[in-house]
Amino acid sequence: STTDRYAVFGSPIKHSKSPRIHRLFAEQTGQALSYEALEVTAEAFPDEVGGFFAAGGKGLNCTVPLKELAYRFAGVKTERAERSKAVNTLALQTDGTVLGDNTDGCGLVTDLLSNHQLTLAGKRVLILGAGGASRGIIGPILEQAPSRLVIANRTADKAVSLAEEFSTRGDISGCGFEALAQSQFDLILNATSASLSGQLPPLPDHLLAGQGSCYDLAYGNEPTAFVRWGIAHGARLSLDGLGMLVEQAAEAFLIWRGVRPQTRPVIELLDQERKKP
Ligand code: NDP
Repeated sequence: STTDRYAVFGSPIKHSKSPRIHRLFAEQTGQALSYEALEVTAEAFPDEVGGFFAAGGKGLNCTVPLKELAYRFAGVKTERAERSKAVNTLALQTDGTVLGDNTDGCGLVTDLLSNHQLTLAGKRVLILGAGGASRGIIGPILEQAPSRLVIANRTADKAVSLAEEFSTRGDISGCGFEALAQSQFDLILNATSASLSGQLPPLPDHLLAGQGSCYDLAYGNEPTAFVRWGIAHGARLSLDGLGMLVEQAAEAFLIWRGVRPQTRPVIELLDQERKKP
């Protein structure tokens, strides 16, 4: 029989670490599969996704800017995908339907709790940004019972309506960045794409509480602008999204293959590689 085929769709996709991560998982768990990164724009997505599964593909990851489109494509959805209205993992099921799931939030929470012993229960948590990534992480964060969750966004309206969408699930509110002036948080998560262009949302100096921590969902070979902001403002931990990336991938691998790979060795390897000159 042929090797099961997987891929990540997105645009831009050239620098994606997902193929490397899934090949390491496959090696570690002794699974025979292929995984490639394919440049797919929003316009091309309907044809490409249909073609991929028609040609026998078993599963896909979808990243920027395709998560909402993947949500609409999925024939069946998990509860967490339904809640976030965004899908990062598609899986062909035995009955021929395609399941859509969102493993981003679970990946973030696992990285915070298991890899960094950062608890969310009773903490004041701030999310910067109200796009697709923010959508995916709000539900899983609220499940950890923070005392308060604020979403701040450049376009304030988007943060306000996103908060309203999740308001039955906990103490959550939305605002613009200027409304943060008098507030303090124990954990600040950057889910804006500002870091990707070396930028930072305008943040007041005393936003981070003493012993507080920062987490940028973005990652790169160098510390991101937000990771550096955290360090400069006395963060106990100031982390980037490499751990989340590996954890969300492990969760997708579990859905596809029924085996959960060990994430620690993969995170450590990728972290070592980027520290090399
Ligand atoms: P979207 O395009 O859906 O949303 C972008 C968000 O960033 C919006 O809230 C937008 O605000 C805001 N934004 C963009 N530029 C700026 C700026 N210069 N200043 C302030 N705010 C800005 O992107 P996603 O939500 O899909 O992705 C966000 C980030 O999360 C990316 O860096 C992505 O790489 C990362 N990510 C990481 C994952 C991981 O596994 N580590 C998983 C998923 C995402 P506005 O609404 O005003 O336009």
